[in-house]
Amino acid sequence: MSASIIDGKMLSQKVRDSVTEDVKRWVEKGNRKPKLQVILVGENPASRAYVGAKTKACIDVGIDSDTLMLPDTISEQELTEVIQSFNEDDNTDGILVQLPIPNHITPLSVIEAIDHRKDVDGFHPMNVGRMSVGQPSFRPCTPAGIIEMLRHYSIQTKGKHAVVVGASNIVGTPMGIILSRENTTGKATTTICHKFTKDLTKHTIDADILIVAVGQPGLISGQMVKEGVVVIDVGITRIADHTTEKGYKLTGDCDFDSVSEKASWITPVPGGVGPMTVAMLMKNTLLAAKKSIYPPK
Ligand code: NAD
Repeated sequence: MSASIIDGKMLSQKVRDSVTEDVKRWVEKGNRKPKLQVILVGENPASRAYVGAKTKACIDVGIDSDTLMLPDTISEQELTEVIQSFNEDDNTDGILVQLPIPNHITPLSVIEAIDHRKDVDGFHPMNVGRMSVGQPSFRPCTPAGIIEMLRHYSIQTKGKHAVVVGASNIVGTPMGIILSRENTTGKATTTICHKFTKDLTKHTIDADILIVAVGQPGLISGQMVKEGVVVIDVGITRIADHTTEKGYKLTGDCDFDSVSEKASWITPVPGGVGPMTVAMLMKNTLLAAKKSIYPPK
């Protein structure tokens, strides 16, 4: 079998076009434009690139955005005070603190400082908790984008064995929750693997749907998957490549050539999950502006 490509670039553009239309209608009704506040701490080049992609997407869909750059010497207290000021600002709909943040700051303290009604990344425990019990919530953008991809390509999850490799708070764990919910979203039998999993292949070989979010190029090879598997490669690693203009190329966690020989569907890197993440952020920011998830009482 040779896999068909799940085209994240094309699908993300569809999502963005639909958000653009919705934003236009929202503004035509007399509302102000949705506004996303991005906070970037330190000088991480990959973070800068991600923030650049997110703010460019905002411009494209008609969402206002502002990026506050803070030095990596900022204290946790100072950072939470900055977040608090945006929580109280009625002109700010969504707040995003680009991760990772410097080691002296606890990520969860920062995430918890964000008003959950403005948590467009969907990382706040209130949103994660509500998602876990099937209540309306902001869903983390990467897992939400993956669900959108599966839906678009009519890839059923109900009753399937979904295996998620990687258990981070931002991708693997929420992905597992969404896929496993029996009465709402995924309805799949779900296995979550992580660095302590013994014999990874024992799990991956049994997957009908395999989602890999680790950050280790080549972790999954063709020998580790079964014929017909659907593979979603979330990993993004920069590998030095002097033949490219930027001096690096982006690589996923799967050995694309050997895995795509057996898979029925596969996402490429780049052009797969990455653009969907950005598109879902646009969707969440509009939901925040409309107060759709948390209507005012
Ligand atoms: P992380 O870096 O916080 O954690 C990595 C996870 O992988 C952990 O749960 C760890 O236990 C697990 N792991 C490590 N080695 C393993 C092994 N040998 N076998 C099985 N599991 C193992 O995770 P993250 O922040 O979700 O990032 C993972 C990758 O996804 C990175 O490459 C990141 O750049 C990428 N990412 C991409 C997007 C996107 O939009 N495409 C979004 C977020 C993250």
